[in-house]
Amino acid sequence: MPRSIVLCDSPRARTVRNRGPQVAVLGAGIAGLVAAYELGGLGYDVAVYEASPRVGGRIHTHRFGSEPSAPYAELGAMRIPTKHRYTMRYVSELDLVDRVRPFRTLLSEAGNYLWAGERPVQLSRAIPALVAALQERLPRAGYRDASLHFAAFLILAIEAVAPVRMRGLLTGNPMQVARLVDRLDGIDLQPYLSGPDRPARLAEFFLDNPTFSALLPHGLDRFIDDIVTETSADLVRLDGGMDALPRRLADALAGTVSVDHRVVGIRARRRDVVIEIVHANRTIVRSYDYVLCAIPFSALRHIRLYDLDEDKIGVVRDIEYCSATKVAFYCREPFWCDDGISGGASFTGGGIRQTYYPDDGSVLLASYTIGEEADQLGRMNPADRHEYVRQQLANVHPRILEPGMIRAAVSVAWGQSEWTRGGCTVRWGKSDDQVAQEIALAGSPQSRLFFAGEHCSKNPAWIDGAIESALDAVDAIDADRTGYSVRRTA
Ligand SMILES: Cc1cc2nc3c(=O)[nH]c(=O)nc-3n(C[C@H](O)[C@H](O)[C@H](O)COP(=O)(O)OP(=O)(O)OC[C@H]3O[C@@H](n4cnc5c(N)ncnc54)[C@H](O)[C@@H]3O)c2cc1C
Repeated sequence: MPRSIVLCDSPRARTVRNRGPQVAVLGAGIAGLVAAYELGGLGYDVAVYEASPRVGGRIHTHRFGSEPSAPYAELGAMRIPTKHRYTMRYVSELDLVDRVRPFRTLLSEAGNYLWAGERPVQLSRAIPALVAALQERLPRAGYRDASLHFAAFLILAIEAVAPVRMRGLLTGNPMQVARLVDRLDGIDLQPYLSGPDRPARLAEFFLDNPTFSALLPHGLDRFIDDIVTETSADLVRLDGGMDALPRRLADALAGTVSVDHRVVGIRARRRDVVIEIVHANRTIVRSYDYVLCAIPFSALRHIRLYDLDEDKIGVVRDIEYCSATKVAFYCREPFWCDDGISGGASFTGGGIRQTYYPDDGSVLLASYTIGEEADQLGRMNPADRHEYVRQQLANVHPRILEPGMIRAAVSVAWGQSEWTRGGCTVRWGKSDDQVAQEIALAGSPQSRLFFAGEHCSKNPAWIDGAIESALDAVDAIDADRTGYSVRRTA
């Protein structure tokens, strides 16, 4: 792995060498790379500095081998909702459309398991049992089967996706559950149900009934969008690895991407911005006309920041992050096929939560956790973490314990990763005003220092939000330089 890479000679690179104002982009995640790409297109002279040895940030495809066709695991972002128009626009612009494949999500296949108290049950058999259990907890009988089925699946999806602190919010409040089923009884649910043992189509339902989320407990009402999106049928992935997005962007830049260049200090002055970078044990100090900082605030708060407003320092310090941990096993064979599973994901529960099966090949995303459970795994050393996941997974898939079944294991605990120190920004439990204020402050520039990244967007925790924030920052830099602004659309 080279310590520093210069990508301007790549065949995909733009041929014009820019001589416009000099801009440094800090962080080569998707936000930094999109910004660098667009600024380059506007004639700016762009240099990108990245602390880690690779581009992509939280888009991180791990390959079990050095050839491009090696089996791989997505340790960061793995799916794109087709409604995410900014992300889909770059998929198209970077000639990746032929790699788009459907992404089969959590509890989307009848064979996917869910952990039901003491044992795993396949979804096709679990839904009738969940419906019966829900009816028992309701204060009266006589609800329509469709209402009970829909409510049972909604509760299941919440329990499977939400972090610990949100899980009991609905189920712990029987009156609220009853109100929810009452309301469902007045809605025609047939368009959202395919059969008594099939998952409900939550995404379509919430699209058609936008006020329904107000019936959910405070906190959950804001998170429900993510739950619905994650369990939607309208998700896609990039065959060959999601890292094609950041890699192709980096290849297409006219300027340089310097990896292993860690920013340690930023000073925002009136006419320029000075950055301090450490590379190969040397400190380099450089001045730029503009700087676009696309470093997560969870990492930025550990960098020396000079001459920033108190409010800005406050938002950098206070934005809340939720951890996320992924553990993948490259297996000797796809043993889950024995159970009739050919894709989708199980709600494996316990400390490992979700297990995703590949459409083909034998790399299993054995565990995907967020929040406290992600931190619990993140605090273990990798060998202990992998063994813990192996033992827990054996409750659902005992064959994982066969000697030699796991050829290789890999994981990333994003909450503990040096360059992220958090999974994604969350704004749960905040009022609309508080959210709007936080977004405005996060994205607000300081003289010629601008900001982008998922943490600056109204769609955090998604690639789409990171891209949108990058386009906003590019517009703002260009408006500052030219004196007029042009709104970019997807
Ligand atoms: C486990 C997980 C699963 C996800 N799944 C999905 C999904 O399926 N679909 C989806 O759309 N989104 C998903 N997301 C969210 C998505 O990955 C992020 O929103 C997006 O990639 C963030 O991009 P970014 O550019 O804002 O930040 P990042 O990707 O974090 O980029 C920031 C960059 O800054 C660098 N950096 C940090 N410190 C320094 C420093 N001092 N000097 C220089 N560089 C520095 C980092 O190394 C990094 O490369 C997921 C996120 C996680 C963690």
